[in-house]
Amino acid sequence: MALRPAVAGDILRLLDHPPVREIPHGRQIFVNRNLRLDTIDLVGFDMDYTLAIYRLRKIEELSFQMTLRRLVDSCGYPPEIGGLEYDWEFVIRGLAVDKQHGNLFKLDRFNHVGRCYHGRRPLPADDWRRLYRDVKIRLSDSARFAWIDTLFALPEAALFAQIIERLEGRGMTVDYGRLYDDIRTSIDGVHRDDTLKAVIRRDLDGFFVKDPEIGPALHKLRSGGKKLFLLTNSLFDYTDVVLGHLLDGLLPEYPSWRQYFDFIVVGARKPGFFSDRAPLLELDGEGRPVGPAGSLERGRIYQGGNLTDFERLAGLGGERVLYVGDHIYGDILRSKKSSLWRTCMVVQELEDELEHLDRHAAEVQRLSEEETLRPRLDDELNQRKLALNLLEKKLGRTEGDARLPIENERRVMKSELEQVRRALRDLNLEIQRLEDALERGMNRYWGLLFKEGNENSRFGEQVENYADLYTSRASNFLAYSPMQYFRSPRAAMPHERGEVKLAPFGEDRL
Ligand code: IMP
Ligand code: MG
Repeated sequence: MALRPAVAGDILRLLDHPPVREIPHGRQIFVNRNLRLDTIDLVGFDMDYTLAIYRLRKIEELSFQMTLRRLVDSCGYPPEIGGLEYDWEFVIRGLAVDKQHGNLFKLDRFNHVGRCYHGRRPLPADDWRRLYRDVKIRLSDSARFAWIDTLFALPEAALFAQIIERLEGRGMTVDYGRLYDDIRTSIDGVHRDDTLKAVIRRDLDGFFVKDPEIGPALHKLRSGGKKLFLLTNSLFDYTDVVLGHLLDGLLPEYPSWRQYFDFIVVGARKPGFFSDRAPLLELDGEGRPVGPAGSLERGRIYQGGNLTDFERLAGLGGERVLYVGDHIYGDILRSKKSSLWRTCMVVQELEDELEHLDRHAAEVQRLSEEETLRPRLDDELNQRKLALNLLEKKLGRTEGDARLPIENERRVMKSELEQVRRALRDLNLEIQRLEDALERGMNRYWGLLFKEGNENSRFGEQVENYADLYTSRASNFLAYSPMQYFRSPRAAMPHERGEVKLAPFGEDRL
């Protein structure tokens, strides 16, 4: 029902004061699907890259160098690759690796390749179109493709590209499939055998960003009557050290990080947690399993488990649970497919990307106006082509003095056609120029994380489809009420946008 103008006026007057505190764009929580926080009883958090914010370049660099060393020392790769330096700018989340051809590419939401590199050399469009345009790309074909969907995986994509560049640059032949598998095995080992974490533990201040708002954000949710839980793939010893560093004593009410949570599950083995039936184990104070868990109790630590047992023992589940995580597959997509849990995705990169877009708001606006103008010019061009065609036919049927006015009209139409053609060419160049500048300003190789050309990127599309909410940090909940009604903006399909379309001139006009 439309608001009566008088009522609307009253409401507008009510809103007519400066906001109590404007939430910076990069710290807002964005809504894909309506979510009422007052219907949520249980809020769960992942740890790595969600509650615990790593200094991205530093941990990636460490993981890159450790994996590189392992490739040379244990997998027989030539020492030439030993001196490689991590190029963090060359990799972003959402890239796909083609293990058959040694390529890295970015996809749009239709799974069309938008740009592609072989090693670190841009592949000419003709080459990648030949490889990827006429085939349906199925990233689920894991023998051929890998998807870089977590921040932990950025170094492996960089290693793949940089090693190919180095070895092929020296005339060596590379078995791309084997290289990728060796990188995967080595980086997996670096994570599992504690090599990486041993270094991180020795320099917690160096590797983590201390977010002073995370404790207060958790406290606010608890004060709003929610139960909180931790569900992380990290094992207890690491979780204890990291969360102890970030949370212990941050607020006087919580001397230990454990006190923020009603249930603590470590070593959860997501995404398997959501689909398998691994047993839930209780751990002792030292993190050693003492046996299967018969209940979930506050102050105790659990390991492993699965969705069904967790919901049964927690006595809560389904749509009353909100899970906050950073891994599009393990935390968000898999939980969405296997459960009714509501989801909030933490996308650390969002803060920089929004800051960049805000700084270039004028260009973004111009781009959007010019993109609206383009189909209009397409129509104008087609109109004139058609009209010219009809005039020429008419001229063919006409003789003597009657031709003169038609010829004049044809001359005018031709000149108009040329003008529109030139305008369209200029507009296309301008759009290209603006798009390039906007994208290169963010990342000169891959552009914006959430976009590919004027489409959403595949990554952006997955965030939109599977995360009910998304935001740059878990602590952004602090700025919202625990009763917040997160409302998604009204969706608009193309037919709702009311764009002007021109019908071609008909014979009757001539
Ligand atoms: P989260 O807290 O659920 O995000 O879990 C992240 C944990 O997964 C961290 O302990 C990482 O070290 C670990 N991890 C990330 N990538 C890999 C991998 O490739 N192999 C094994 N463990 C990994
Ligand atoms: Mg994580």
